[in-house]
Amino acid sequence: MPDQYAVIGNPVAHSKSPQIHAEFARQTGQDLRYDRLLAPTDAFIETVNAFRARGGRGLNVTLPFKGEAFRLAGVLSERARAAQAVNTLKFEGNATFGDNTDGAGLVNDLERNLGCPVTGRRVLLLGAGGAARGVIKPLLEQQPARLVLANRTLGKAQLLLQIFGSGLEISAYAALAGQQFDLVVNATSASLAGKLPPLPAGVFAPGGQAYDMMYGRAETPFLAFARSEGVAARVDGLGMLVEQAAESFFIWRGLHPDTAPVLKLLRQATA
Ligand code: NDP
Repeated sequence: MPDQYAVIGNPVAHSKSPQIHAEFARQTGQDLRYDRLLAPTDAFIETVNAFRARGGRGLNVTLPFKGEAFRLAGVLSERARAAQAVNTLKFEGNATFGDNTDGAGLVNDLERNLGCPVTGRRVLLLGAGGAARGVIKPLLEQQPARLVLANRTLGKAQLLLQIFGSGLEISAYAALAGQQFDLVVNATSASLAGKLPPLPAGVFAPGGQAYDMMYGRAETPFLAFARSEGVAARVDGLGMLVEQAAESFFIWRGLHPDTAPVLKLLRQATA
């Protein structure tokens, strides 16, 4: 019986994680099985326990369970503690280890795949939900010139200052007018609803990079806005998805898969 893994969420049918991990396993010669696990929104713990009882070794966690996974994990990585959200669970005996690989996924995609370093650059992060929280610490570790976080509900963003300290600046959207950034990361769920966060014109510095964490066939409103602002470097979050999966694979199997061919495969499939 191969070792069992899965991505747990609701909904989860759309997830590309099984395809990604199947490629990683094939590439590294690992004998494992990776499925989709749909959990009722009020039965996350029960679904995890049943998976574990069947011999499950680890889970990727997606919407809306990253907070519950954080509370479930008995042992947490530092980055999961900072994010207060867990996207990777590893089961060893009775122990449950929780980690958050989203931030490493974003930084690896930016730096390795896109040649877009964070160090010394002015970075604007949009959103203050689970995805934004997960990437703040890994972005700060790269020592950007500035890391400014803008959120529609300002109070929610201000709470993050208590966790991440003075390295992080908080701003209302309107207060961004007249400022320029080398990298703007959309970590809001606005694109999911076909909406654009209320960004002022002129927010991209010349030669700037636009990054939308959402991915899919169609251009997102955020990337369309960047295009209308003359931004040439525009990318969705497919690379982040593959890179965060690679970090999870390493946590479970101790091996670093080659992400480039897997990302190429997914890009071809969504072209
Ligand atoms: P959450 O629901 O936790 O947070 C949503 C955030 O979006 C909040 O800050 C909310 O602001 C903001 N928001 C929603 N609508 C608007 C709007 N119209 N204008 C401005 N702000 C808005 O979601 P997550 O953080 O979990 O996910 C965010 C996105 O990141 C999703 O699209 C998800 O698919 C993507 N993602 C991609 C990953 C990848 O690997 N590529 C990994 C993880 C996430 P407010 O606080 O005011 O409500």
